[in-house]
Amino acid sequence: MTKYIGAHVSASGGVGNAILNAEAIGANAFALFTRNQRSWVSKPLPQLEIDGFKALLVDRGFKPEMVLPHDSYLINLGSPDEETLQKSRAAFLDEMQRAQQLSLKLMNFHPGSHLNKISEEECLDQIAREVNLALSKTEGVTAVIENTAGQGTNLGWKFEHIARIIAGIDDKSRVGVCIDTCHTLAAGYDLTTEMGYNFCFEEFERVVGFKYLRAIHLNDSKKGTGSHVDRHESLGLGMMGKDFFTRFMHDEHFDNMPIILETPDPTRWAEEIKWLRSL
Ligand SMILES: [Zn+2]
Ligand SMILES: [Zn+2]
Repeated sequence: MTKYIGAHVSASGGVGNAILNAEAIGANAFALFTRNQRSWVSKPLPQLEIDGFKALLVDRGFKPEMVLPHDSYLINLGSPDEETLQKSRAAFLDEMQRAQQLSLKLMNFHPGSHLNKISEEECLDQIAREVNLALSKTEGVTAVIENTAGQGTNLGWKFEHIARIIAGIDDKSRVGVCIDTCHTLAAGYDLTTEMGYNFCFEEFERVVGFKYLRAIHLNDSKKGTGSHVDRHESLGLGMMGKDFFTRFMHDEHFDNMPIILETPDPTRWAEEIKWLRSL
């Protein structure tokens, strides 16, 4: 099997529970929060919890490179506000350090928002500087930029935004990209037709490069192409169309990386994973 598929599972009660939750839905990849995603500060991970996670991961046959921690929603590395930036800097470093402590290889983050107070270019360059700072204080973890729907003043919805951040990263071996399919559609790349699909990924190769692709968030979308609205939908129930998922599952560009469902109904995840594998 070359496709590693899972979902963003709950880690409540301890990060090790994410492994069990992933196993229960037939996943061979998963995403998780390693801290409270809605709070600025979190208690350090106890050593016992770290050791337990690492042992259980091996025991249940998951590869560390198929686990994709997601950063806190509060973090804005592109913030024009000094206080928010400082909090974001500390929280982002903590996210990277937690991934390192758990012997994970990736950490998925949302680039940031300019809040109409600085230019797009200033914001993107600031994000790159902040990532450099965190990379210089950690080891072995790749910072994975997620493309966005472009809601509000969020950057990272154009592949050009992502390319500019990557251009500003000193160690290119530790920066990667996660494509969220719902965000991609909402950003204006029409994935619903064969022509649109091919155009989108040719653009991605031309502007960013598949060599940076480290992960996928595989979501259907409630809203259509170019809506700039971030509303995930269960697979097959939204605007993407079944053909998209068939094309995706046969596309070797997406082999050997975590493919993560962030679809809204966890009770469907096992079924959704089975369905994908049947395509
Ligand atoms: Zn995300
Ligand atoms: Zn996502």
